Amino acid sequence: MPDFTHQMNPSPTTAPRSNSDFADRVCVKCSTPASLTCSGCKSTTTDANRRYCSAACQRDDWDEHKMDCKHAKVKNIQARFFRAAIILENIWEAYREKLFDKLITKIEKKDGSLVLHENDDRWFNSPYDMLEPFPFHLLPEPSDKLAVLNFMACGDTLAYLNDVVELLFRDLSTKIVEVAINDMIPKMTITPVDVRGDIRSPTRRHALWKVTLKNCAGIYALDLTGAQFGHMDAPTIPWDIYRASRIGRAGSPFQRRAFPAITHAVSGWLSDNNTTLWDTIQLPQPMFDKCVAGIVDAVTVGIEERLRIARELDEQSISRTKLSLGNNCSELVQEHAAL
Ligand SMILES: [Zn+2]
Ligand SMILES: [Zn+2]
Repeated sequence: MPDFTHQMNPSPTTAPRSNSDFADRVCVKCSTPASLTCSGCKSTTTDANRRYCSAACQRDDWDEHKMDCKHAKVKNIQARFFRAAIILENIWEAYREKLFDKLITKIEKKDGSLVLHENDDRWFNSPYDMLEPFPFHLLPEPSDKLAVLNFMACGDTLAYLNDVVELLFRDLSTKIVEVAINDMIPKMTITPVDVRGDIRSPTRRHALWKVTLKNCAGIYALDLTGAQFGHMDAPTIPWDIYRASRIGRAGSPFQRRAFPAITHAVSGWLSDNNTTLWDTIQLPQPMFDKCVAGIVDAVTVGIEERLRIARELDEQSISRTKLSLGNNCSELVQEHAAL
């Protein structure tokens, strides 16, 4: 049985109290004034009003409350997971826009699918030479942005965002693994055309994370780049649904890097604002949206700073290995055939 959480006294008010206000503040067992709530489900709305006067009354109520308590805990973990995923998705899109590495020359739309003309015959002296402004002006429709932004970028999410995934999801999950897919089932395809006009077959390779939530709150696919296959829904999809509807064949491992500037920016933003991720993802929607925007700004500044340093190092002719935009990072378990 969970402990109690002591509620703050409500601020005094001159307005007459309604019956429900009154009912909120008495013990569910004995109807005497009560200021304690169950710590197991305290931060959810569903059972937040279940008050107790004492440990004895909470114990008496436990048989009746325990199923609701468990359910509330699961809902709570899921809600936090979905919000952490929104933060991650926004960071990813800002990162990808800043570090877009394709020189797109034309985008056509045929039968709902995209044909992407790319000048892939480029020569680079340093890693940042490959960066190009995102081609907003070439999009057939603004809604095609995510498909183009995420095209062939799934490896980058796993390569560069592992550390921030760890930061955002470690308190919510018991296990995070990388999953590689050789044959993704698409809703929409993007056909790349190279500089000579040769059509290449659209990629069906894909990669994502599989996250097992705490408290048996479910197993989810965390897929930031599904839009390149026309999967435009939220990045968090129950694993069984994802597996049944999207995975044709499992794939093989990838190279892994990290982009520490992102993790530093997120941690820095949290400490500058004297808050924790935990508190941030529980905020009311407008405040949460503001925080997401703040985090994305911090990440953008961090990426720009990293690029500036990379350029300076390049000018000083420091070795190429130091120029690499990312660093090697801690190993994450990979899962392939074991789908
Ligand atoms: Zn009581
Ligand atoms: Zn409870």
